[in-house]
Amino acid sequence: MMTHQITLIPGDGIGPEVADATVRAVDATGVSIDWDRVDAGITALTKHGALIPDDVFASLEVTRVGLKGPTATPIGGGHQSINVALRKKLGLYVNFRPVRMLPGLKTRYSDLSLDLAIFRENTEDLYAGLEHEVVPGVVESLKIITEKASTKIACAAFEYARREGRRKVTAIHKANIMKLSDGLFLKCCRDVSSKFPDVQYNELIVDNACMQLVMRPETFDLLVMPNLYGDILSDLTAGLVGGLGIVPGANLGDHQAIFEAVHGTAPDIAGKGLANPTALMQSAVLMLAHLGERDASSRLHNAIYQVYKDGASLTGDVGGKSSTTQFTDAVIARL
Ligand code: NAD
Repeated sequence: MMTHQITLIPGDGIGPEVADATVRAVDATGVSIDWDRVDAGITALTKHGALIPDDVFASLEVTRVGLKGPTATPIGGGHQSINVALRKKLGLYVNFRPVRMLPGLKTRYSDLSLDLAIFRENTEDLYAGLEHEVVPGVVESLKIITEKASTKIACAAFEYARREGRRKVTAIHKANIMKLSDGLFLKCCRDVSSKFPDVQYNELIVDNACMQLVMRPETFDLLVMPNLYGDILSDLTAGLVGGLGIVPGANLGDHQAIFEAVHGTAPDIAGKGLANPTALMQSAVLMLAHLGERDASSRLHNAIYQVYKDGASLTGDVGGKSSTTQFTDAVIARL
């Protein structure tokens, strides 16, 4: 049996709790994994004096695959987001977030079987981190949109749509106002769409898209967009299917990949054993498929779905009373 080397970055807040739960579940699939555990975030700053110590990059250089818990970012000052730094440095230009209903889970949209895919550009836009004070009382943040990055994310979205039999790609933009930057993003999407005549293509202005998603989410299939709209719509669509505790994510580049949940460090519940590890476990489902471990990937996916269908071992955020450990035990029992 092949042993896979994976860089495990537990992160901050509930990160170590959901990471430990996910490692237990992945190991229980029987796939042989050599986890290289490294610190990043506030935990790393406290322990090693650096937010992203060199051994994080050194490990990812060797393993090429990471599983990451959330890391904290201070608001309105302080250090740059660890995620933004990792994604930019490693060229992880695709942020892929599949948003699906889980069986048995009661949400406001339970009568719909939602299955959306979000493709968010991951390296530029307002996340380029280029901000400065022009004169006191006036600041400027630069929104960077390039033909290269926009074409890459559009290609990734259309290739996925064709491979997975998705019927429609919708590009989300605000090109009526940001005519140059979002205009360029749209032009790239249109150019790529012309090479995929078998995949339906349309465009929606971001504010209208938000309303349509809340009113008629079932009319959407795959959505592709620049970084900021992707961040916001990921949380919005997570809310449609039961919240941040369940939606997984993958950051993909040409050479490396980091799998992580959509949610943050949840400081309000950290250290209490209440965190829902589903999102990171579902990210591990994507990771196992990426590693070529398709059987283990679908067994872990099915085990999670069975626990939701049964409904007796769910965590508080999705209406249950179980702890992180009880939920994890239930998943492992079904493996
Ligand atoms: P958050 O996702 O941490 O929390 C939002 C709400 O969702 C909270 O009520 C929280 O308890 C709940 N929640 C989130 N994940 C949950 C889970 N797995 N189980 C149960 N409940 C869960 O968002 P926030 O409060 O805006 O951000 C907190 C910190 O996380 C900030 O420092 C932010 O920068 C960081 N953050 C990190 C990432 C990442 O590393 N990928 C993503 C988003 C936010």
